[in-house]
Amino acid sequence: MGNTTQIIKDTFIGLKKKNLDAIPKNYAHEFYIQAKSHNLEHLFDLTEIDEEKIKIFIHDLTDILAPSIDHDIKDEIEIFVSKVLKKPDNLFEIDFINELKNLTTTRISKDREVVQNKSQDIIKLTKLLSKQFQRMILSSDNSSNTFLDIKEELEELHISQSSSRELGGLQTKLIDTIYNLEEAVKEHRYSLLQEKENLEDIEEKFLLLQEELKQAQSEKNIDYLTNIYNRRAFDIELEKIEKKFNIFNTNYAIALYDIDHFKKINDQYGHACGDNVLKTFAALLNKLSRDIDILARYGGEEFIIILNYDNIKEITKYVKRIKDLIENREFKYKDHLIEVKFSGGIALRESNQSPLETINKADQLMYKAKSQGRDKVILEDGTTI
Ligand code: GH3
Ligand code: MG
Ligand code: MG
Repeated sequence: MGNTTQIIKDTFIGLKKKNLDAIPKNYAHEFYIQAKSHNLEHLFDLTEIDEEKIKIFIHDLTDILAPSIDHDIKDEIEIFVSKVLKKPDNLFEIDFINELKNLTTTRISKDREVVQNKSQDIIKLTKLLSKQFQRMILSSDNSSNTFLDIKEELEELHISQSSSRELGGLQTKLIDTIYNLEEAVKEHRYSLLQEKENLEDIEEKFLLLQEELKQAQSEKNIDYLTNIYNRRAFDIELEKIEKKFNIFNTNYAIALYDIDHFKKINDQYGHACGDNVLKTFAALLNKLSRDIDILARYGGEEFIIILNYDNIKEITKYVKRIKDLIENREFKYKDHLIEVKFSGGIALRESNQSPLETINKADQLMYKAKSQGRDKVILEDGTTI
């Protein structure tokens, strides 16, 4: 108690020195300071209450610092708290405050890392799912294998430690769902397969029709007997070359050939023989036509040709070759040797007003050849071959 008396004395001296009134608030504060200088502060209510409050605060620190997501840091926090509890007085020392700061920073960055991992895991799962479902829908007859692949991939999917609690469950649920889906698909497999067969059937028919249509379209343009263009195809080609003539000044000529006394061949050897002559005649004309020239059967025993040329000489050369080829060719039918001659007229597009006028001109020249004894080709400039 002697100590207490001394402390009371020192309290009054202290207040006087500091020029403070001995009101309860100042007295209590000075009393505590004096008690502390005698190392007796623990004996007084004031210190005990404060220390208790500090202890409660330190205990609360465990909760304040408690990791919200990452639990790895829990031990570190507990070590710090027990250290502070042992020396509560040092709580406000700079070292402790720094340690508290560091712990808080570590906690925040660890939590952030966990959140990132978790979102990446979710992305991984979602990506895998969409890829697998796409594969499953696209694959037709090997769905069982596909399911197996999905299950394996799901099982092997590496989920980060931090999400294993939540996403691990989801992973298991997904695997179950895949099993259920597999069963459902198995059940409907038969009807799916049938649908597929029907579709394949339709596809096959469609391709066949497409082919037939193509064939019909080309047949529309081809003469059934001689296998060269018919008049319809000729008209289309003439339109094309006329466009070229108008735009690029491409020269072209129209040649018309008509077999002489063809009626006689028919009458003498029969219609089938006539057909044969027509076929051979067309084949010979075709042989001498260049790819850029257009040869067509214009009617009965009449043939028409669009000739591309740069100068007239080219045309005369070409006509000579044709005449040569036909004259030297032996037309045979059964045991008969048939003499085949022809007459022709050739008109130049550039000397006429229109394609039609050019054809008419060629026709006139051809009839001129007929009237001049047949077996000749007359060009617009009067050249006769
Ligand atoms: P010209 O020298 O004046 O041309 O006399 P031509 O007998 O050749 O001419 P005309 O026009 O009098 O007779 C043509 C004949 O061609 C009449 C027709 O029956 C025949 N003909 C037309 N198309 C065919 C066919 O595809 N096959 C056969 N075999 N004959 C046909
Ligand atoms: Mg004729
Ligand atoms: Mg004729």
